[in-house]
Amino acid sequence: MSATLEMKDISIEFPGVKALNQVDFSMKTGEIQALIGANGAGKSTLMKVLSGAYDHYTGEIWFDGQNLKIRSPKNAQDAGIQIVYQEVDTALIPYLTVAENILLLDTVHNMGRKQWMKWKNLHQKAAEILANMNISLSTKKLVSELTLAEKQMILIARAVSNQCKFLILDEPTAPLSHTETTELFRIVRDLKEKNVGVIFISHRLPEIFEICDEVTVMRNGEFVAKKKIVDTTSDKVVEYMLGQKLEEQFPVKNNHIGNTVLEVNGLSDQGKIKDLHIHVKAGEIIGIAGLVGAGKTELCKALFGSEKLAAGEVILNGHTLKLKSPYDAVKKGIALVPEERRKEGILVLESVETNLTAANLGDFTKVFSFLNRKKEKETAKQLVRRLGIKTPSEETKVQNLSGGNQQKVAIGKWLVAEADVYIFDEPTKGVDVGAKKDIFELINELANRGKAIIYASSELSEIIGITDRVYVLYDGKSVKEVETNLTNEEELLFYSTGGR
Ligand code: ADP
Ligand code: MG
Repeated sequence: MSATLEMKDISIEFPGVKALNQVDFSMKTGEIQALIGANGAGKSTLMKVLSGAYDHYTGEIWFDGQNLKIRSPKNAQDAGIQIVYQEVDTALIPYLTVAENILLLDTVHNMGRKQWMKWKNLHQKAAEILANMNISLSTKKLVSELTLAEKQMILIARAVSNQCKFLILDEPTAPLSHTETTELFRIVRDLKEKNVGVIFISHRLPEIFEICDEVTVMRNGEFVAKKKIVDTTSDKVVEYMLGQKLEEQFPVKNNHIGNTVLEVNGLSDQGKIKDLHIHVKAGEIIGIAGLVGAGKTELCKALFGSEKLAAGEVILNGHTLKLKSPYDAVKKGIALVPEERRKEGILVLESVETNLTAANLGDFTKVFSFLNRKKEKETAKQLVRRLGIKTPSEETKVQNLSGGNQQKVAIGKWLVAEADVYIFDEPTKGVDVGAKKDIFELINELANRGKAIIYASSELSEIIGITDRVYVLYDGKSVKEVETNLTNEEELLFYSTGGR
C-alpha cells in the first residue's frame, strides 16, 4: 500500500535570504522522486525542513491524511523520515566499527537505559541489516578504513534500520565513481521494492532519467514543475531549471579571430600523446574533443609545463617555449584550469579571496607582486560579483562552496593574471546547469577580449556549443580537425570512438 507525503506552501527565511517561497512537494512511498534545481535553488533547505532541521518555517506537512508536526530531527525520525547528508564524514564516528555506526542510535538509547549492548548481538544485528541490503562489508571494520562510498552505504543502512518510510539522499552520487553509483542505484531500487519512498537530489540528468519515477524541479526557492519521468525529457528539465531554452545556454558568438597565438608542432609526451599538431588564434576557442582517456588532460598538462615532453615544439607569439614547469607557463602567459580542480586548481582550505587573488600561490607570487592588499580585496569583491560566485563572503573557505562555484573561483583566479592562452580541461565537470551557463559566458568573454582558448571536454554538446574549431583526439593522436559549424555531435563521436 502506498501512502502520500505532502509538503504544502513551505516558506522559510534566513537573515537576508528567503530560501523557500511557498513550495509544494509531494510523493508516494515506493517511489523514487528526483529533486533537481541549480545550486541555491533550495533543494537542501526543503529537505532539511522535511527532516526536522528547522523549526521556523511556515507551511504544512501531511502524510497519509495526517498532519505531521516536524520541528525537530526526532519528529522526522518518528514519522519515518530519514536523511543522508552529502557530508558523510560528519555523520559517522571514524574510530567506531561499522556495526557500532549502523546501530549508533540504538546503542545510545540502550546506554541511556543503563542496558549494556551485547557486542555479539550488535554485530549480528548489523550484519543482518547489511545482508538485507545485499551489502558485503565486515561489521568489524573501523569506519575510518572505509571508502567514501562505503561510508555512504553505512549511513543508508543506518537510516533504513530505523523504520524508514522516506529516505532523502542529498547529492549522493557527486563523489562516487561509476561502479559505486551503480551499486548505490541497486540499493535504491531495492528500497523502492520494499516500499520506501526515496528522494534523490542530483544535478546529473542521466542518473535521474535512469532511476527516478518522477522529477520535481525547483528554481530560486520556488517550485517550478513536477513531471513523470516517462512524460518529460532532459531538455525540458533543463528548461525548467534555467527558466529558458537549452539553446540559450550557450552564449551568442561574436568573437573576432586574429593571428595565431599558440602553435604546437609534433608534440609527444612520454606516454599518451603522439605527434600532435595544433594551433589556436587570438579570440578563437578551439575544442579538444575525445573520450575519457584519449589524452586531453595530458595535452593540457603538456602545454602548461606540468607534463614532460618527449618531442615537439610549442611556439607562443612566434617564440619557441621551453616549458619546464607550470611556473614557466604562467610567466609566459599560459593559464590552465585543470580537471582535478580540487587537487590542482584551487586551494580548497583557503578563502575565496586568497584563491582569486592568487596571493598565496607560492612560486607564482612574483607574477602578482604588483597587487597590494587593498587592491586584492577590491579585486576579489569585483570577481565574486562579475563571476556570480555564490558565497556568503570573500572570506569563506572554498571547500564550503558548491562545485560550480569552486570552478568559477578556479577560473576567476586566472582572470587577474591576464594570460594570452587559457586552457580549460573539463571545466563543467560536477557543475550544475546554472553555473555552467556562467562559465560558458566567462569563456566567451575571454575570447571576445582576444584571448586564445583551448577547451578540452568529453561533452560533445559543449564542444559544439562553444568552440570555433575542433580537434578530435583518439588514443593520444589528433584524428580529425574541423570547423565547428561544419560538424555535429554524431560526427565528433564517430571520430572520438576511433571511426575513420
Ligand atoms: P540547493 O541545495 O538547491 O543548492 P540550498 O537549499 O542549499 O540550495 O540553498 C538555498 C538558498 O538558501 C541559498 O541562497 C542559500 O544561501 C540559502 N540558505 C540555505 N541555508 C541557509 C542558512 N542556514 N542561512 C542562510 N542562508 C541559507
Ligand atoms: Mg544542496
